[in-house]
Amino acid sequence: MKTIIEPFRIKSLEPIKMTDRPYREKALRKAHYNLFAIPAEDVMIDLLTDSGTSSMSNAQWAAIMMGDESYAGASSFFRFESAVKELTGFKYILPVHQGRAAEKILFTTIAKKGDIIPNNSHFDTTRANVEVREAEARDLLVPEGRDPRNKSPFKGNIDINKLSEFLKSTPRERIPLVMLTVTNNSGGGQPVSMANIRETSKLAHQHGVPFFLDACRFAENAYFIKLREPGYENKSVFEIAHEMFSYADGCTMSAKKDAFANIGGWIGANDEGLVSNMRNLLILTEGFPTYGGLAGRDLDAIAQGLKEIVDEDYLKYRFASTRYLGEGLLKRGIQIVEPPGGHAIYVDALSVLPNIPRDQFPGHALACALYEVGGIRGCEIGTVMFGKKGPDGKNIFPALELVRLAIPRRVYTQSHVDYVLECAEELMKECNKIRGLRFTYEPPALRHFTAKFERV
Ligand SMILES: *Cc1c(COP(=O)(O)O)cnc(C)c1O
Repeated sequence: MKTIIEPFRIKSLEPIKMTDRPYREKALRKAHYNLFAIPAEDVMIDLLTDSGTSSMSNAQWAAIMMGDESYAGASSFFRFESAVKELTGFKYILPVHQGRAAEKILFTTIAKKGDIIPNNSHFDTTRANVEVREAEARDLLVPEGRDPRNKSPFKGNIDINKLSEFLKSTPRERIPLVMLTVTNNSGGGQPVSMANIRETSKLAHQHGVPFFLDACRFAENAYFIKLREPGYENKSVFEIAHEMFSYADGCTMSAKKDAFANIGGWIGANDEGLVSNMRNLLILTEGFPTYGGLAGRDLDAIAQGLKEIVDEDYLKYRFASTRYLGEGLLKRGIQIVEPPGGHAIYVDALSVLPNIPRDQFPGHALACALYEVGGIRGCEIGTVMFGKKGPDGKNIFPALELVRLAIPRRVYTQSHVDYVLECAEELMKECNKIRGLRFTYEPPALRHFTAKFERV
C-alpha cells in the first residue's frame, strides 16, 4: 500500500477551539503581534515547537500510575536508568528536569573562561550555557548545511577539515570537549552521518578531548542513517542509535524531544570523576540523583517513551508526515529548507514575501499572517530572533529568514496538515498585501519572547 497511516488510534482527545479570522486578528492585535503572547487555546494548529508537546501513549499513562515518589532510591529511577543505559551504554546517568539543565551542569563543571567548544551548530540554550561561562561556542557546520536549496543527505555534519585544523591549532586545555548535535536543530533539523560521528570521535580522542552528543533527536537521526547511509539499511534504529552513542564519552538529552515525555532529560557519561563533580552540582540545583528535578512518574514516562521512540513504524509515519507538509509547501511555490528535516519544516520567508524589507521582519510578518489566515502558530527564526545592531546602529541580519513549523509527535493527523497547506495557499494569494512590522517595545535580550510590534 502507498498510503502511510498514523500507526495509532485516538483514545483520549483534546478539543480544538475553532476560531474565525476576525477573532484571530483581534487576538493578534491584543498580543501586540507577538505569537508567544497568544493564549494557546486561541491557536488551532500549534507548530511553535516539538518540545514537550508530544502525545503520550496509553502505555506511558499506565507507567505514570506506577510512578514511585520516594525521595531516594525510587523504583522509577531504576526503570529510567536501565532504559537509558540499555540505549546509550553510558556507565552513569543523571536525570535532570530538561535539556538546558543538563547543559548548565555539564558546562559549569567543565568549561572556563576562554575555552572553546566546537559543535556542528550549537542549539540556542547550549550556546547560552557555554557563553555564560565566558567560553566560546564555535559552529563548524559543513558549508552545504547553510544552503536551503542544497539537497545533500547529511547537511548536519561537522566540517571534519575545520575540526581537525581547530584541534591542531588550539591548546588542549582550552577545549573541554567536542560536541555534535543530532539532529542539527538550529540548522533545519538535518542529520549527521555515522561516518561523521565516528570521524569526529576519532579526531577528538586523538587529541585527548572528550566527545559528547547533544542527543535530543537521536532516534530521528538514527532513522535518517538507516534510510540514507549505505551499510545501515538492515540494522534496527535501536542498534544504530546504540552505535551512535558508543562513539561518545557522554551526552546531554532533553526527553521533551525523542522520549515522548512532556518534561525531563539526562546527562550520560563514562568518566567517574566528571560524573562525581556533576552529581554534586545536580544535588544543588536539580535534586537528589535518583530524581533530578523530576517526579517519579516522569521518569517512568521517559523509560516507556524510549521504547516507543525507536519503533520504526512510528518513525516512518513521522518522516512521512513532516515530508508531506514540506512537499506540499514546495508544490504551492513556497521555498523550504530542503530536504525536509525530521521534526520541522523551515519556510524561507524571503521567497514568500520578497517585497518586505528585512528590517520590517518578513519572517515574523509571515508567521503573523499564518496565524490570522488559519490560527496556525509557527515560530520566526530570523531577524527578530537573531538580528543584531552593529556598532554603527545599523541592523546585522542573520543569513536566513525562516519560519519554523515544528511538528509535535503523534498529535496532529493528515487532515490537520492538509488544513495547514490550504491556509498556506490562501496566504500566497494575498502575499502582496501583507505588511511588515516594527517594534513598539524591544527587549534588550532574547527579544522574540516579549517584544511588541505594530504593522508598518
Ligand atoms: C530542545 C533542545 C535543547 C534544550 O532542551 P530543553 O529541554 O528545551 O531545555 C538542547 N539542544 C537541542 C538540540 C534541543 O533541540
